[in-house]
Amino acid sequence: MPEDEKKLKPYKIPAPEEIFSLMSHKPSADDKKLIIQAFEFAKKAHEGQLRKSGEPYFIHAYEAGKNLAKLGMDAKTISAGFLHDVLEDTEISRAILEKEFGKEIVLLVEGVTKLGTVKYKGKERHVESLRKFFMAVSYDIRVLIIKLADRLHNIQTLEYVREDKRKRIALETIEIHAPLANRLGMGKLKGELEDFAFPYAYPNEYKQIEELLRHKTGISQNYLDTIHKKLKKELSIQGIKIITTDYRIKHKYSLWKKLQYYKMDIDKIYDIVALRVIVPTVEDCYRALGIIHTLWKPLPNRIKDYIALPKPNGYKSIHTTVFTANNKDSIVEIQIRTEEMHMEAEYGVASHFLYKEKHEIGKKKLNEKFIWIDDLKEYKNTPGQPIKFIDDLKMDFFQYRIFIFTPGGDVVDLPEDSTPVDFAYAIHSDVGDHASGAKINGKFSSLDTKLSNGDIVEVIIKKESHPTSKWMDFTKTTLAKKHIKQYLQEHSLVSRFFGRSKF
Ligand code: MN
Repeated sequence: MPEDEKKLKPYKIPAPEEIFSLMSHKPSADDKKLIIQAFEFAKKAHEGQLRKSGEPYFIHAYEAGKNLAKLGMDAKTISAGFLHDVLEDTEISRAILEKEFGKEIVLLVEGVTKLGTVKYKGKERHVESLRKFFMAVSYDIRVLIIKLADRLHNIQTLEYVREDKRKRIALETIEIHAPLANRLGMGKLKGELEDFAFPYAYPNEYKQIEELLRHKTGISQNYLDTIHKKLKKELSIQGIKIITTDYRIKHKYSLWKKLQYYKMDIDKIYDIVALRVIVPTVEDCYRALGIIHTLWKPLPNRIKDYIALPKPNGYKSIHTTVFTANNKDSIVEIQIRTEEMHMEAEYGVASHFLYKEKHEIGKKKLNEKFIWIDDLKEYKNTPGQPIKFIDDLKMDFFQYRIFIFTPGGDVVDLPEDSTPVDFAYAIHSDVGDHASGAKINGKFSSLDTKLSNGDIVEVIIKKESHPTSKWMDFTKTTLAKKHIKQYLQEHSLVSRFFGRSKF
C-alpha cells in the first residue's frame, strides 16, 4: 500500500439525527426540518469532492455544524455551519441558497465565505489580520462562531494538509482564532484550538511539554478517584447537592504558557489536574469551600475568589489548592462554581444561546460579562431613539461597536463615535488621566477625533496633562466619563477652596 494511502481515515456518512441529541435544548419540529434540509443540501452540493484525507468533503461541513451544536448554537447557525463552504466551493449560487434557506442563513454563509480570505502573514501583519476579522464579522457574531467551528475541524485534521502549510495554519490558529474565542469567553473552544495547533506551531516546545509530563509523577488516577469520592461523600453529608464533579486536565498549550513564568519548573504548577465541583448556588460554593478546608489543609495564598472578584474576561469560580495528605505530591487544585458559571466559562457568548430558552438569565449574564453592552444601552437609549435592547439587537452584538487596536495588536471594543480619550481610559485610568494627544494610524490627531472601526491608536502621554471639563462633551463611554468626573471633582474641591477665599 502506498505511504499516503495508509494515512487515509475511515469514514461513514453520518445521519443528521445525531445532531439533535447534541443540541443544548430540544429542537422543535421546524428546527429538525431545517437541519435535515441543510444537511441534505450540503451533502448533494459537495458530492464527488474529496478532502486531502480522502474523506468526502461533506464530512468537513458536517463536522463544522456538529461543533456548533456542541457549542450550544441554534438550528439556524448549525444549518449555516453545514452550508458554510457551499458558496465558495460548489456551483451553488447565492440566489439559489437564498431561495432555499432565506436571507438570514445566506448572510451567515456569505460572512464566513468573506472571512476565508483572512490569513496570518507573520507577526507584523497580525494586527492587519485581526482588523479584517473584526470588521468582517461586525454585523453578526454568529459568523465568527461558525468560522471558529470550521477552524476547529480544520485544525483537527491538519495532519492531512501539505507539510509546508501546516505551520502557517497552526500559527494562524494560535495567533488569531484562539484569541478571538477567548475574547468571546469561549474557554473550551480556545483550549481545543490551541492544543490541536500546538504540535504543529511549536514542535520542539510541544515535545518538551510531553517529556515533562511523562516524568511528572504527581497524583495517580487511583488516588484522584479516592479523594474525589471522599469529597463527594463529605459534601453530601453536609447537605450540599452536587450537580457534577469531574477533573479537568490542563490544556498543554496553556501549561506551556504558564511554565514560561516558572522557568519551566513543572513542580511549581499545581493545577495540571484540577478537581471541579459544580453546586447549585453561590452560597453553596462558599459552604463547599469551608467543608473542603475542614477536610484538607489549604496552601497559603492559593485561595482565589473569582466570584467576588471575577477575572477581566468575566470568569467566575473559587479556586483553592489543598494538601490531601502529608506530602507534596498530594497537592490538588479544586475549583468550585455554579452551573451557570461553568457554562459561561466553557461556552462564553455561546452560553447565551444555551440559556436563552431555559431561563431569562441569559440576558443578565451577558450584560455582566460584556459590560460594553451596558455602555451600548446607555448610548442608544436617548429620547426619540428608543431601543428594546437585546430584542432589537438580536444577535448583532457588534452592530454599534467599533474595534480599535493598540500598536501591539490588542483589541479594544468601544461604542461608535468614541474618541482617543475613551480608548485611553479603556487601556488604563492613568493613560486616560495623562493623555495629551494621539496618533491615529500614524497621524497626529486631537483628542476629540471620532475613531473609526479598525483604527490603530497610540495615545501620547504627558505627565502634566490632565482631564478638562470639555472632555465630558466628546467622550462616549461611561468608564471615561466616570474617571473624568472623578478627576474634576477632586480638582474642584481645590478651586472651590480658593474661590471662597476670595470673599
Ligand atoms: Mn470550511
